[in-house]
Order: sequence, then structure tokens, then C-alpha cells
Amino acid sequence: MARVMVVGAGGVSRVVTHKLAALEEFDQILLASRTLERCNRIAQSISTKSIQTAQLDADDVPETLKLLETFRPDILINVALPYQDLALMDACLQAGVHYLDTANYEPPDNPKFEYRWQWAYQERFFEAGLTAILGCGFDPGVTGIFTAHALKHHFDEIHELDIVDCNAGSHGRAFATNFNPEINIREITQPGRYYEKGEWVTVPPLSMHQSIEYPEIGDRESYLLYHEELESLVKHIPTLKRARFWMTFSQSYLTYLDVLQNLGLTRIDPVDYEGTPVIPLKLLKKLLPDPSSLAANYTGQTSIGCHLRGIKNGKPQQYYIYNNCDHAKAYQEVGAQAISYTTGVPAALGALMVVNGAWQKPGVFNVEQLDPDPFMQRIGSLGLPWHEVIGHPSPFAEV
Ligand code: NDP
Repeated sequence: MARVMVVGAGGVSRVVTHKLAALEEFDQILLASRTLERCNRIAQSISTKSIQTAQLDADDVPETLKLLETFRPDILINVALPYQDLALMDACLQAGVHYLDTANYEPPDNPKFEYRWQWAYQERFFEAGLTAILGCGFDPGVTGIFTAHALKHHFDEIHELDIVDCNAGSHGRAFATNFNPEINIREITQPGRYYEKGEWVTVPPLSMHQSIEYPEIGDRESYLLYHEELESLVKHIPTLKRARFWMTFSQSYLTYLDVLQNLGLTRIDPVDYEGTPVIPLKLLKKLLPDPSSLAANYTGQTSIGCHLRGIKNGKPQQYYIYNNCDHAKAYQEVGAQAISYTTGVPAALGALMVVNGAWQKPGVFNVEQLDPDPFMQRIGSLGLPWHEVIGHPSPFAEV
């Protein structure tokens, strides 16, 4: 039986905590976050296990250490914000606790999606005999595990990877983001970036797009974004000649985003307002709907997967693997929308993979470095069934 501490009490945390409660391998669960009331609300929505709660400022390493030493979890799941990653990794090292997160560290004043800050912990985790798993949501997360599964079972070499992420749901609100608005808008307004023939290519934000067909959904305009898993996948799969990430946006969403940007409301530098420094994006976050509040009326599906090209037994191979997730079904089951659901389920299962030994080894790992089989065997029954089509023609022109 294992003990687990979850940090953060937003939409993703709700799913993680529900799924941990459903896994018999975890018997003691502590949910800690900045606002105790939000932890209590999640704990009260779970009837199968008693969930302990605590107030915690995760930026404060001594405070986190104290809580870790009192509760003594086997693993900490970080579903707070990327700003807390390093502080939580430090606390885990000091307390001798394994670590897992779903998004890479970002300095608050610099929206850079890079693994270098967290990869720098490799030696310390290795020497402490502890495991740190980085980016175990859906993307990053399952997309890397899908790629590792494809490489293990269907390719000798992968040459092209296109990750495709579609949200075809509707929540009835004029403009809202599906996860933390601040993190989401920082990500989308960055220049697009992809890897091709040994180089990183940068293009203006949302300037490359094409229509892609998604299963059970149909054609959707999809926009090239930089997404953090590209960095680790290119590093760990050296045969890749091209790696890209595509996400769907509706025209209305893009128009709102354009207006917000033109007004300066997505800026992350402080603006003086009558003597008080205000960061426009933080103010905007306060004004936008809380992503978890979208869940009750959300309908439609998400579809996230990977299109791959490469070689198997000396012959060209094409392959597509994906999961579709229904917003309303996710809400019925755990009271969350599909974006939180597709992130929280892999995080809970990743933590199980560490405590049951399947992924437990000293060091800092991205998910594609780990054996995909035990994870792929269980993720379907935990709520995210996957489908693969060997020989599926890629919707993208060859590199
Ligand atoms: P929310 O904003 O809904 O939740 C974040 C939670 O973290 C809130 O409860 C917040 O507290 C808490 N928090 C923030 N700062 C601190 C702090 N200093 N100490 C303690 N708690 C803190 O975000 P989501 O649930 O939507 O997202 C959670 C994480 O999941 C994010 O890092 C996001 O980037 C990642 N994500 C990953 C995806 C993937 O597929 N890999 C997809 C979607 C999200 P309070 O309640 O007080 O605000």
C-alpha cells in the first residue's frame, strides 16, 4: 500500500485525486494547496476513500518539507503550476520522496518552455536513489508514451512525428481557456517552433495551419505551436527528422485572443496602475472563467494522438495512435472536463508506475524514456482507451 501527496487543487487535481482514490494500491492520500477550501471541496466529492487536506504554499520549500516529513508519502504529484516545479523537486530531494509533474518549469517572468532547469536535477535525484518523472499528463505525457509504444512495437526507426490535439467541445462561454488561463495564454502566444532536419525552425505565432481530420469529429483547422514535449522527444529519439505539434482553435477563439493581445492584456510585464504594479495577464486570469467551472455544461470530445512515419523491417511504415475523450462523460464520472481528465488520469497512473516499481529508478526522466507497456496496459481501463491504426496515411506532406 502506498501513500501519495497531491499538490494543487484545480481542475487537474480533482481528476488525479479521484483516480488515486479509485486505485487500490494507494491507501493514504493527502491533498495540499494554496487554498484549503478548494482541497476540501475535492475531498468532499470523493466517497470511496477519506482524503486528508492541508494548506500549503508550494513555493516555500521548508513548509513543503515539513508537510512531507509529517505525512511521509512515497510520491508527490505536482499539479499546481509550472512555477512550483523546482521548489517541489527540492523539497522531495530533502525529504526522500519520489516526484511527478505534468508541465515543465517556467520562470514566472519568462515564458520559456525548457527542460534544462529540471534536467539539471538528474545527478541529485540519481544520487538520492529517487525517481522524478517529468510531464506525465496527456501532452506532454501520453503523447510521449504513445511514441515510445510505437517505437517499441511498430518501428525500427521513427523519422516523422506530428502530435495532433483537437478539442471539439463546446462550453457555451464566449471565451475561456481549458486549463490555467495564464499558463495557457503564455503557451499559445509564443512563436511557433518545430524541429526539422537537425534544426529548430521558428515561425510567427499561429502562422502555420492546416485542416486535419480527427476520428469521430471530422476536419478541424489545426495550428502549429511549440509544445514542450518536442524538446525531450527530439533528444531521446535521435532518428527523428521532423517533430511538430498541432492544436485546433476555433475562429472565434483566435479573434478574442487577437483582441486581448492587441489591447496588451496578455502582457506578463508589470504595468503601473495608479501606483500599483499590475501584470495584465494575471488580471485577465482573474476575469476569465475558472477552467473547472466549464465542466458542467461541456459537450463534445477531445481527440489527441500522434501521426508517425518511419521504417519497419526495411520498409516505409505509417502509423496513427490516439485517444478520444468525452467532456460530458468525464464530468459525470469525476466532475471535470476532458482537458483536466486527460491530464489527471495519466498523472495518477504514472504515480502508480513509480510506486509499484515499473518506472522506479534513480534519476530524472521524461516519459518516453520509460517502458510504455505497463502504462499502456492500464490506461484504457482507467478511463483513456487508445486506438492504433498501422498503415494509417499521415495527413502531412513528407519531410
Ligand atoms: P488550476 O489553475 O486549475 O490549478 C492550479 C492549482 O495550483 C490551484 O489550486 C492553485 O491554487 C494551486 N497553486 C498555485 N500556486 C500555488 C502555490 N504556490 N502553492 C500551492 N498551490 C498553488 O490549473 P489546472 O488544474 O488546469 O492545471 C494544473 C497543472 O496541469 C498546470 O501546471 C498545467 O500547466 C498542467 N497541465 C498539463 C497538461 C498536460 O497534458 N500535460 C494539460 C493541462 C494542464 P489556488 O486554488 O489557490 O489558485
